Amino acid sequence: MPITPLMPVYPRCGVRPVRGEGVYLYGEQGERYLDFAAGIAVNALGHGHPHLVKAISDQAATLMHVSNLYGSPQGEALAQRIIDVSFADTVFFTNSGVEAIECAIKTARRYHYVNGNPQRHKLITFKNAFHGRSIGAISATDQPKMRDGFEPLLPGFDYVKFNDLDAALAAIDDETAGFLVETVQGEGGMTAGTQEFIQGLRKACDEHGLLLILDEIQCGYGRTGKMWAYEHYGIEPDIMTVAKGIGAGFPLGACLATEEAAKGMVIGTHGSTYGGNPLAMAAGQAVLDVMLEDGFLENVEKMGDRLRQAFEQMIPNHDHLFEEIRGKGLMLGIKLKEPAVARDFVAHLRDNHGLLTVAAGENVFRVLPPLVIDEGHIAECVELLSAGARSYAVAGE
Ligand SMILES: *Cc1c(COP(=O)(O)O)cnc(C)c1O
Repeated sequence: MPITPLMPVYPRCGVRPVRGEGVYLYGEQGERYLDFAAGIAVNALGHGHPHLVKAISDQAATLMHVSNLYGSPQGEALAQRIIDVSFADTVFFTNSGVEAIECAIKTARRYHYVNGNPQRHKLITFKNAFHGRSIGAISATDQPKMRDGFEPLLPGFDYVKFNDLDAALAAIDDETAGFLVETVQGEGGMTAGTQEFIQGLRKACDEHGLLLILDEIQCGYGRTGKMWAYEHYGIEPDIMTVAKGIGAGFPLGACLATEEAAKGMVIGTHGSTYGGNPLAMAAGQAVLDVMLEDGFLENVEKMGDRLRQAFEQMIPNHDHLFEEIRGKGLMLGIKLKEPAVARDFVAHLRDNHGLLTVAAGENVFRVLPPLVIDEGHIAECVELLSAGARSYAVAGE
């Protein structure tokens, strides 16, 4: 077999979407799916949201790209709006999540370097973390499935158990620059950081002069019912990575930082040809327009509660299959009991019931609907999921 035109790094399934409308996707033959995967937490506004579509088309016709050699009224405007609703004082725009991670790692290293402590270059990271696929990002995770065959990776990362504050504190040494942590782990199994853990990391950073880098690429931007997941913990980070929902389908990411944390990022230290171009900024503005409308985030919180309640009611009816619910807001996961396998169950829901979800580590399947769902979509999801659980049980017998 010759190699496929698309480099064969993904186990692509039979669904081949050609059109999207709101919370639904349509395949080549018109097959319809309820999309509770949302492009892996990306399509926050669903598919074809008119405000986003218009903003992108208008901007494409006006000015798409000029490079960062020129002043950027579009970038300044979006950065200021993000600053106004976050802890941050400054923003670097990227085209993806992993590029935001690269910027965060560089920002942290430069901070200690300009402070006269270049030895403080190591980040403490966490088991089951996912930060993306660059060499830097796979160096920041301990997962062999991402690292195998790519070594030697970058030095400067320690790995400790997630939600284990004692282990995190014990890992601090003279070379530590800070912590890099997902406020709510996505890919790794939809585990939210505990209050004690996230607050403890913040306290340790304050005591030891370390930087707290939150990876909110998946859990930020409204996903958990608040603009940022850190708001659930009453703390603020020094640096934060954002992507996925920020462009709601347009490739966009950002690295946010306080003025203090960004003090080493001066002219010439970092860059991106495309990052923050006018087209991306128009998409980002349109997404924020919708998310900051009165009641948007409240509705995410409400729908998240409804969905969780519905799942809680459903679990006892299928307790051979479902173990527990994880996550926050509309970033939910259901852990399956063995011998059920998340990947198989996701395929079953997709192929036999027209419901799209995403598998995660620890035998969890992720439910990541667009943030614009209503009660009707929740009812439909629960119906499809219950039917899927019943037919899966029968098929498995
Ligand atoms: C998706 C994700 C990334 C990587 O984002 P890409 O856009 O795929 O580079 C990093 N961190 C977290 C938490 C993610 O969910």
